[in-house]
Amino acid sequence: MRPSNKLKNLKPSLPDIQDTQPASNIAEISLFGPGVGECIVIHMGAGQWFIIDSCLCPKTNEPIALSYLRSIGVDYANKVIGILISHWHSDHIRGASKLLKHCTHAKLYCSSALFSKEALTLTSLYKANRFTDCDKNTEEFSSIVNFLHGTNDPRRLEFIKARHTVKDIRQENHVPVRLIALSPSNMAVTQSIVNLVKLQPKEKSQRTRAVVPQSENLNAVAIHFTFGQLSVILGSDLENHDNENTGWKAVFNDGMIADLSLSKAHVFKVSHHGGQSGNHDRIWCDLLHDKPLAITTTFSRSHLPCDDDIERLKKQSKALLITRDPTKNKKIKHDKMVERELRSIAKERITVNTKNMGHIQIRATEQGKLTVGMNEHAVRY
Ligand SMILES: [Zn+2]
Repeated sequence: MRPSNKLKNLKPSLPDIQDTQPASNIAEISLFGPGVGECIVIHMGAGQWFIIDSCLCPKTNEPIALSYLRSIGVDYANKVIGILISHWHSDHIRGASKLLKHCTHAKLYCSSALFSKEALTLTSLYKANRFTDCDKNTEEFSSIVNFLHGTNDPRRLEFIKARHTVKDIRQENHVPVRLIALSPSNMAVTQSIVNLVKLQPKEKSQRTRAVVPQSENLNAVAIHFTFGQLSVILGSDLENHDNENTGWKAVFNDGMIADLSLSKAHVFKVSHHGGQSGNHDRIWCDLLHDKPLAITTTFSRSHLPCDDDIERLKKQSKALLITRDPTKNKKIKHDKMVERELRSIAKERITVNTKNMGHIQIRATEQGKLTVGMNEHAVRY
């Protein structure tokens, strides 16, 4: 469903983005989205930073996380401790290999669902030029794996699945900080390996065009982050599925919320760009406080979030902030000549839609008091 102009009830925008580093006792969640693309930059306190996914700054063409951290004076080479690739879709990985090269003290975390023996086999096929004309996902994936091979440092890579603890500080005289993966489930990991094996080309002449299985959103890593009394759910693109043991259903069937004493969150980075397929009622009951602050990015190629998604999210949340105005994603009608010309420069056409980077910045004290800012490209409902 295409967005229409019926959504006129935008609220005034929030204060500007703070352009200095947060104090060491202040957490930050910055969400970036250029229209198609998503990146989350997190300050975990004590000068430690964590990045989830990557997209490019339209102005400099470098990963937005690097541009932003540099702009507020963070020494990202030493202060970024981890980079998580939630799943291998192109709107979440652009520039990830560059991030990894520049953040020299960061460990790379990714879904166990892809980094299997089978995936490495695919990379060796890449070396043999079997991926000519491959898509961007494959290119970025390959350059990351090649870089990791080159560093010869096995500690820089960690595989994640549900219940995996990336960070857990719960000691006296320290603000509690936890970062835990809610997904992918064991079943999603197993299924992805089966799919990867099927992707291997049988004949020498055959090309493998995609590393990412269709069900990749069921393998996405959703995160539960806690800083003091603040908790945040970062839903990635995790979707729902008929299968009780994959996607969001697996999160609730697994019992991890009680087992790991995961506290209800005040902020929700809504899954899958606000789309219905990423929604599950139990997210709102079991993982979130009543009326949390909801934030998300658009996926303008699929018109996400659509009008109905926005209406639903507005009802469920205290406020809904989106990195770009989804109603501005409408395709402009051109005459046939212009349309033909545009098709011939299809690449540039994408950059036309994504030339502005929306930014939502949330800072929080350990008592959970929020300060929220956004730039002129983001919208508030
Ligand atoms: Zn996405």
